[in-house]
Amino acid sequence: MALALEKKRPYLSREAGWNFDNSYLNLSEVFYRHVRPTIYPVPQMVIFNSALAEELGLRVEFFTSESAELFTGNELPEGAQPIAQAYAGHQFGVFTMLGDGRAILLGEQITPEGRRFDIQFKGSGLTPFSRRGDGRAALGPMLREYIMSECLHALGIPTTRSLCVAATGEGVWRERLLPGAVLTRVAASHIRVGTFEYAALLFAHTGDIKPLEELALYSIRRHYPEILEEESPYELFLKRVMEAQISLIVKWLSVGFIHGVMNTDNMAISGETIDFGPCAFMEEYHPLTCFSSIDYEGRYAYSRQGPIGFWNLCRFAESLLPLFSLDPQKAQAQASKVLEDYDRLFEKEYLQVFGQKLGIEKAQEEDLGLIKEFLAILEEEKHDFTNAFRALGEAYQKESSFFSASSRFKHFQKKWKKRLKRENPSVVERLLQEKNPAVIARNLKVEEAIAKAEQGDLSYLHRLLDVVRKPYEENSENEEFRRPAGIPYRTFCGT
Ligand code: AMP
Ligand code: MG
Repeated sequence: MALALEKKRPYLSREAGWNFDNSYLNLSEVFYRHVRPTIYPVPQMVIFNSALAEELGLRVEFFTSESAELFTGNELPEGAQPIAQAYAGHQFGVFTMLGDGRAILLGEQITPEGRRFDIQFKGSGLTPFSRRGDGRAALGPMLREYIMSECLHALGIPTTRSLCVAATGEGVWRERLLPGAVLTRVAASHIRVGTFEYAALLFAHTGDIKPLEELALYSIRRHYPEILEEESPYELFLKRVMEAQISLIVKWLSVGFIHGVMNTDNMAISGETIDFGPCAFMEEYHPLTCFSSIDYEGRYAYSRQGPIGFWNLCRFAESLLPLFSLDPQKAQAQASKVLEDYDRLFEKEYLQVFGQKLGIEKAQEEDLGLIKEFLAILEEEKHDFTNAFRALGEAYQKESSFFSASSRFKHFQKKWKKRLKRENPSVVERLLQEKNPAVIARNLKVEEAIAKAEQGDLSYLHRLLDVVRKPYEENSENEEFRRPAGIPYRTFCGT
């Protein structure tokens, strides 16, 4: 019988490349609940990421239209042990108990190279953590996550990835009835700052430090194994997570990306971008740009992402305090020692990354003025962030057609070129090309691709994906995707 089933559904088998480990199950049971995905009536494949499947060691030829049964959770691959993960988090500054309300972790796929990736369904039905939610996801937001994660990945920004979107055949009620879907998400792990807040809360209630300790050691082993043998691994852990977040946030800033909902449950300790919800790319430059319809005060606006990263890391550090020392004063002093470096490290990273966007290989503090001056021009003259930086490639060589009307730019250009005389011209040219993408996933293009996909036409979605996967190319085919829409834009939380 089993053999017959496998023959019929080869995409579930080890031959298809599935190679699960389920190490999260070795943690205390407080960290998860066993749960089965909901069965959906008429599953259908929408989009499958063959390149990512190959990276995961999956054999693409096994995944046909029939594997919609797998990618909606109706059938599970061999070795999967589905769970919903427990976590908490500060949402817009307010602490809440959360957990996977509509996500189910199948396990960790071990690739042929021995790398470990979480495979998770999003939208696969109710879990013990669903609270008042329906456990479902709508097709539009899942396609949005697929596009945005592909775009960030192509830009070299650490991110969770999207393996597949499959339609469930079921309607989902939001403001209106929408087509339902399941996204299969791939991540270095789904351990969040909020997972630590949850463990710290358990400690506060029970006095049992074991779960917190387990989670920390597990996370270190999984993401920062080199620090395990060090003298103070927990402080180093905080430092590593802080460095990873700084690097991530500065990368976001460098391409005008606004995450939109940097709650502590949406900050992965691996340093990957996670939970895209209302994210979007800025077009016209303004530091306080904010797209999310629920972010009334602009808490997660473009330029606030750095300070919010620090705020979140403070919550992370607080959760780790009992591991530093059981003497609260001592523990706090240790945490502060790590955290007080945040601003300095952030500014250093910012200078390095934005310096390179101006063609300066190793920017020094005195170069910060140039960066600020250029951004001030963009703000005052309301330039498109992506296109303005991209135009520097031309402006380095000759009169800039992009900035032709700007006397301020001409003034800047003189100073900038003088500074670049101290650099190697071929390095400058390379940096201006490689650090300033021509293409990002522009908001209205993303909307258009989703709207068409919802009507059953996937061709525009595929075109958009082709284009955002080659962000440094500039040609007539992607011309339409490089044009700013020039109208105000709003995003809605991706539920
Ligand atoms: P997110 O906004 O995706 O980061 O989700 C925040 C929290 O709400 C997480 O605990 C989610 O699992 C939960 N959640 C979001 N949407 C739903 C839904 N439709 N049903 C149940 N839980 C949900
Ligand atoms: Mg979340």
